[in-house]
Amino acid sequence: MPILLGAVADDYTGASDLANTFSKNGLRTVQTIGAPPDTLPLPDVDAVVVALKIRSVAADEAVNAARKAREWLTARGAKHVMYKICSTFDSTDEGNIGPVTEAFRADAQAGTVIVTPAFPETGRSVYLAHLFVNGELLSESPLKDHPLNPMRDPSLVRVLARQSKAPVGLLDLATIARGADAVNAALADMSARNFGAAIADAVFETDLEILGRAALQSPVSTGASGLGLGLARALATAGATHEPKLDPVGGLSAIVAGSCSKATLEQLAIAEKSMPVLRLDTDALMRGDAEILRALEWAGERIAKGPVAIAASATPDAVARMQEKYGRESAGHAIEQATSRIAAELVARGVKRLVVAGGETSGAAVDRLQIPAFLVGPEIAPGVPVLRTVGGPHGAMQLALKSGNFGGPEFFARALGMMG
Ligand code: ADP
Repeated sequence: MPILLGAVADDYTGASDLANTFSKNGLRTVQTIGAPPDTLPLPDVDAVVVALKIRSVAADEAVNAARKAREWLTARGAKHVMYKICSTFDSTDEGNIGPVTEAFRADAQAGTVIVTPAFPETGRSVYLAHLFVNGELLSESPLKDHPLNPMRDPSLVRVLARQSKAPVGLLDLATIARGADAVNAALADMSARNFGAAIADAVFETDLEILGRAALQSPVSTGASGLGLGLARALATAGATHEPKLDPVGGLSAIVAGSCSKATLEQLAIAEKSMPVLRLDTDALMRGDAEILRALEWAGERIAKGPVAIAASATPDAVARMQEKYGRESAGHAIEQATSRIAAELVARGVKRLVVAGGETSGAAVDRLQIPAFLVGPEIAPGVPVLRTVGGPHGAMQLALKSGNFGGPEFFARALGMMG
């Protein structure tokens, strides 16, 4: 069956978040890691989200990868492909939101493309093209100090125009309030004047529902999970229904954590009361394999009796000491390699249900496990679904990939409880 909707996501956890939004709003969804080979037997789904890692790479590299992913999706019947970006519009004057949107527009021969990072559920709203993050103007929010892409200009028309060749317009809230036909009339007018993209205002989910309906009249759109919600609801009301359930996989369970965020540290402290938790000696991890082998031996002695957790996670002070000693990138990368190796070794020893905490940590683990795709199941916490592998060398597994500050204090127990 052809897919109803496709998406190309600029990072892995953003892809999961969008896949979760599609699934929660009525679409049976698969998330793939890159465009998988044609030989991968994908289950019958309504939507496919192709996860890429192109948020902070050079624009031409991002455009090439995104183009290939869009082609893969359209070849499978997707009449609309959304480019999934961060809800804080993470980008620089070089890209990559503008260049990818323009490439999609050219390839699909689309008119003016709707672009909006609005996602009211997580406090992202757009009014007169100005992005507000939890009630603060983007340029006054913590994003102004983002290490890779400091966001110092709150006007997304200006931000997107600086990284685009064609002019960028505004689709204002007053137009959106008049409904999808009014939106499309405004877009047609902008298209006649050669506007490549239009930043769409949205404050409430109802605005995104209108934008979703309007966007489906075009082959492409660009947005965060809020626009995904609008697209999914527009398609779901057209007949798609879905109760996200995953077949159980059995086997052993484990948690591997590399996130040092406040939420993860709290979740680990709570997990410690109900299951064995090993705190890795991260300094020793930097010096060779002995610490990895110690962790695997420790796990081997306990895991048959129930889930275990292995964590590199540490307090901000300890992380700062590691970074001072080894450098920020080298420490992070080496620890990601170590945690992903531990995850892979645990899987080799019979773990079929795996929770990974940390965005980068999850990416490294999924890459090392060579998992080509996931079917999206029920939601554990906002933005974090249970995933079931599709294909891959380890047989059927269930995973939960938790980024940074996601999940409540009992997240780990809740995740394991929902994985069958
Ligand atoms: P989050 O989603 O919370 O940002 P990530 O996995 O994306 O988590 O990032 C955490 C980073 O911190 C990873 O690169 C990880 O390897 C690194 N890290 C984990 N433990 C430590 C530690 N004890 N000291 C320094 N860096 C660490």
